[in-house]
Amino acid sequence: MMKEKIKHIFFDLDNTLWDTDKNSKTTLETMFSEMKVTEKYGLDFSDFYPNYYVRNEKLWDLYRQNLATKQDIISKRFCSTFQEFDINDEELNQYFEENFLKKVVENNDLVENAENALRYLKSNNYNLHIVSNGFIEPTERKVFDTPIHQYVSTVTSGEEINKRKPAREVFELGLQKARALPEESSFVGDDWSADALGSEKIGMFPVFFDYKKEKKYKQNGFPIVEDLLELKNIF
Ligand SMILES: [Mg+2]
Repeated sequence: MMKEKIKHIFFDLDNTLWDTDKNSKTTLETMFSEMKVTEKYGLDFSDFYPNYYVRNEKLWDLYRQNLATKQDIISKRFCSTFQEFDINDEELNQYFEENFLKKVVENNDLVENAENALRYLKSNNYNLHIVSNGFIEPTERKVFDTPIHQYVSTVTSGEEINKRKPAREVFELGLQKARALPEESSFVGDDWSADALGSEKIGMFPVFFDYKKEKKYKQNGFPIVEDLLELKNIF
């Protein structure tokens, strides 16, 4: 049934197609050892990383709600994590702030089966698009430096209009660029409120991708998948 109605499938990017958690962890681990943090300060990466992860998630959550700025994310996530471990090294903070976004896009692993799913959907004549809350420049790198660009026709970042999903304006900008109507569009994303509920609210057909396999959300009248290949059963 969906197959007949849906012409456009929009994807979130981070932790939906591009493996943000994995790529970030790899990048941070390399930077951490380049800066000899363990040797200098006795801090292990295995203690640093979970602390950083929670802090970064929290900042992005505030950013979605317009309670934090891009600059807050960039300037606070490392310095406040190091501070938590009594490390106040301005040079170290700056190194992480200035280099993380550049380096993270050099680790470009996609989520498992992302390319298989995109290939399947494109060969079945769906028009594919990206709508991300990420910053414009990294978003473009994540698409154009990976196989993703071979499958998608438009890329939208919330930063273009300084709004974040679930704000309807972000979905509307994506739809407008794609020349698509909400009722002929689906949205696949890993954020329950920003992606699934947000896209449902403006009349798109949501598919929730449980990237972390947390199984904490219940069916809500739309599909939940744990592997992107399951999209083959929907579309
Ligand atoms: Mg995401």
